[in-house]
Amino acid sequence: MPVVKLQRPTLTTSEKLTLPSIFKGFLVTLGHAFKSLAGKSRGADSLNGSGLGVTMQYPEQKWDGELPEYYRGAPALVTDEQDRERCVSCQLCEFICPPKAIKIVPGEIPSDDEWAKVEKRPKAFDIDMIRCIYCGMCEEVCPEQAIYLRKDYAITGLSRAEMVHDKEKLYEIGGKRVGLVNKWNELK
Ligand code: SF4
Ligand code: SF4
Repeated sequence: MPVVKLQRPTLTTSEKLTLPSIFKGFLVTLGHAFKSLAGKSRGADSLNGSGLGVTMQYPEQKWDGELPEYYRGAPALVTDEQDRERCVSCQLCEFICPPKAIKIVPGEIPSDDEWAKVEKRPKAFDIDMIRCIYCGMCEEVCPEQAIYLRKDYAITGLSRAEMVHDKEKLYEIGGKRVGLVNKWNELK
């Protein structure tokens, strides 16, 4: 395998000193202050609740409509268009999850089930949202497109127990996802 040597960039004199960066920051803030006083800040029309159009009045106002396509919110399980569980309890997501937020109890699919060849589905599937860092590794690693990070970001609870999303909650957030999943192919 070829070895690639990375060169560290050399810092300029102004980058080595801290003060120029601090003043640059002040100038940016000052610019925003003048713009908001003139009523020309970004979102001045829609965020007028603050008077100057700078501060979003959450929760009355939300960014829901503005979130980019790649936004990573709460992870959730999805079913297919026929309400079948896509997850096969392979536990790859549990293994890869950096903060160990996922706990899965695999369950066996009975041999007389139409989809007995799939072998497993989750008996229990919990994600501790206090631990989750929204990294998206579970989504990346899943071989069945069964877990996705949705756009939900307001994840709250009054106790630690409430912050653990169980299987029912995960399917409630996740909903349905249509598209090919090979395990439902009878010929495979
Ligand atoms: S998003 Fe990251 S931290 Fe959260 S459950 Fe998935 S792998 Fe774990
Ligand atoms: S969600 Fe995906 S990676 Fe996690 S156990 Fe289910 S099938 Fe495996």
